[in-house]
Amino acid sequence: MCGIVGYIGKRRAAPLLLKGLRRLEYRGYDSAGMAVIDGTLILRKDRGKIEQVDNRHNFEELDGIMGIAHTRWATHGEPNQKNAHPHIDCTGDVAIVHNGIIENYMTLRELLAREGHSLTTDTDSEIIAHLIEKFYTGDLLGSVRKALMQVQGTYGLAIVHKNHDEIVVARNGSPLIIGVRGDETFTASDASAILEHTKKMIYLEDGEVASLRPGRVMVRDLHDKEMKKNHETIGWDLAEIEKAGFKHFMLKEIFEQSESIKNVMRGRLGKKIKLSIKGDIKGCGRVVIVACGTSWHAALIGRYLIEKIAKIPTEVDCSSEFRYRNPLVGPGDLVVFISQSGETADTLAALREAKKKGAKTMGIINVVGSTIARESETGIYIHAGPEIGVASTKAYTNQILALMLLALDLMQSKDGDVDEKMISEIKSLPGKIESVLQEDKRIHAIAREVADHNNFLYLGRGINYPTALEGALKLKEISYIHAEGYPAAEMKHGPIALIDENMPVVFIANRGKGYDKIISNMEEVKARRGKIIAIATEGDNEIKRLADWVIYVPRTADELTPLVNVIPLQLLAYHVADIKELDVDKPRNLAKSVTVE
Ligand code: GLU
Repeated sequence: MCGIVGYIGKRRAAPLLLKGLRRLEYRGYDSAGMAVIDGTLILRKDRGKIEQVDNRHNFEELDGIMGIAHTRWATHGEPNQKNAHPHIDCTGDVAIVHNGIIENYMTLRELLAREGHSLTTDTDSEIIAHLIEKFYTGDLLGSVRKALMQVQGTYGLAIVHKNHDEIVVARNGSPLIIGVRGDETFTASDASAILEHTKKMIYLEDGEVASLRPGRVMVRDLHDKEMKKNHETIGWDLAEIEKAGFKHFMLKEIFEQSESIKNVMRGRLGKKIKLSIKGDIKGCGRVVIVACGTSWHAALIGRYLIEKIAKIPTEVDCSSEFRYRNPLVGPGDLVVFISQSGETADTLAALREAKKKGAKTMGIINVVGSTIARESETGIYIHAGPEIGVASTKAYTNQILALMLLALDLMQSKDGDVDEKMISEIKSLPGKIESVLQEDKRIHAIAREVADHNNFLYLGRGINYPTALEGALKLKEISYIHAEGYPAAEMKHGPIALIDENMPVVFIANRGKGYDKIISNMEEVKARRGKIIAIATEGDNEIKRLADWVIYVPRTADELTPLVNVIPLQLLAYHVADIKELDVDKPRNLAKSVTVE
């Protein structure tokens, strides 16, 4: 999610760390900091981009030949100076930088506070410094191991102590790489930060901790067993690795979805859904969901989910429409605002309007500490990680799943029982998304065949009508091809007039409710010589009779089909735009976070 760099050797650490941080900055972060050991532990950190933090704190003037640095993408606690990493213990002897999420931090925090530790930040990460302090008896690696035995969650960690000539690193779920050149040792969360120094890397595995000294690395597991590690030589050049080998951020983010979807479920799924919603939503008689663009499509799916699962009447509105129509909302209504950035101007204005009218407000947001997240009464962070491609992909899938969890939570709050089968279906989503991603080559081949068309139609029914809208929007945004999404049955009320051999029609046609009706709509297109791309359920051979191209997705619960169906549509849009040699990550006229009305 964010960036770690560490150095121990013979040169001054600070300039090397700063350069490493800059290499990681392409992801867009919210704060940065550094700790170096120079007789004592020196700490500098602040909110802002690396350049701004450096201007204020002048990292380069720091002496010392070992240190650690971090760029943060906040998950717990808003981005400000106190929450920036590194974090220190009570004595100020230990400093840690952390990527990831500590799931049991609340329990550990209370325990440490009871034991007399003074915790001063809102982050989950800080507890690690205090746990190390608690277990420290002179052996840094040993105390880190003991501390990590207490921790549940994901981490990439780098730790320094003022009395130790070593950096200790650890990994569980967040990447950490070690590089050695002569009598210098480097570490980073992403090879791009240290690639200019060495291409020989050791990849730490989950459950491993390592002690780094100048030119020497010792790796152990949490039970202190020594681990034999091999060096691997990286063949990539710097430019490539910044996108982790992907041609564009958008493609990288599409491919991240099998992982990023896990972050929205983490710690929230069990016999009960745990969303930590502030205040009571039990008595809410109506839900209104308000959003723009792709988030609005997620909202439309949310309406199906909440009405079906929680049986609460739900409305959806575009933020810009909602705020100006003097909406009839008030006490008893739950108004949900969806925004990736949490800064979308129209959505923020709509939130203020709803608050003024006394409704309960909730944000479904990716960027922690953003304005909508702060101003909403309660919220659900989607934890998709930084999304850099302007066309939203992984934030969308995480928004949908967050809405699913909200629907289940609302149902639960009305004393309903969460269906265990549904929970296990949700848990199987990462694997299913992964298997759709494997179809990339085939989707690329289809894109080649259709890229020269000027108009596309996307059709879906029920919960996949918004999927049709989203597929069309993705294509429009990045390939500049005119595309429309429609509820499939609406086709005969107008758009059917457009159908001929020059009009590819993308059908979302999973087996299940409405399947027969979709097949009839396909017949109607076929009869007019339209070209059909069908997104269909694995094993559906019948559909090949009608479709020119079929992309199969795994079977899942009806409610979850939008999550597997949208992946091929994202890939199709991406490949069409790339084939047309367009700037996929920065499409013309668009910006990532729309902070103007
Ligand atoms: N969970 C930590 C925080 O909010 C680390 C976030 C990150 O990976 O940057 O500070």
